[in-house]
Amino acid sequence: MNRNPVLPTLTLPTEPKALRSIDLLVSQTYAGHGFLALDDLPRVALEAAARSAGDGFEWAVKTYFDGLAGGEPRLKMNLSLKGQMHLICQRCMQPCLVQIEESRQFVFFANEALADAFPIEDDALEPLVASSQFDLLGTIEDEVLLSLPLIPKHPEGACEAASLGAGADDILNQGETLKKPDNPFNILKNMKKKD
Ligand SMILES: [Zn+2]
Repeated sequence: MNRNPVLPTLTLPTEPKALRSIDLLVSQTYAGHGFLALDDLPRVALEAAARSAGDGFEWAVKTYFDGLAGGEPRLKMNLSLKGQMHLICQRCMQPCLVQIEESRQFVFFANEALADAFPIEDDALEPLVASSQFDLLGTIEDEVLLSLPLIPKHPEGACEAASLGAGADDILNQGETLKKPDNPFNILKNMKKKD
């Protein structure tokens, strides 16, 4: 079966529009990385409370073939996300900087029914449907939205400074010297576990 163990790896485009249609039905794997500004992610941009120059998300994607227990090799995908944007602080209603750093793993199926049948207890692996025009940009955007905190807040004690009329960039600079809040990723993970 394993006549061609070394599959050619294609480099993913970095141009956002080109990421809307990736052919996942070829016997090839993909790797690539890039940066998406808020303007490239319209559904994410809707959530933005303010804009600053550094807002946006670096992404890195790698696909590979791997066996599920006792089955055929399946296409899987690793997605890493790192970036920032400004959301509305739910304490003072001023823009606050939110940073995310996430890593997700996906497994591809031939159709919706097979993907739906994939056991969701295995939350380390999210099922997706493979296609010749896979919307990778849409998937990255979905994951950014899922990674954002449900209740964004400034770090403890930083709301007052924000409401004194500081702009988004000033808040950014103050963030360097303020005590780091609890890791938002751990908070998010704990929230997800309660579901
Ligand atoms: Zn606040």
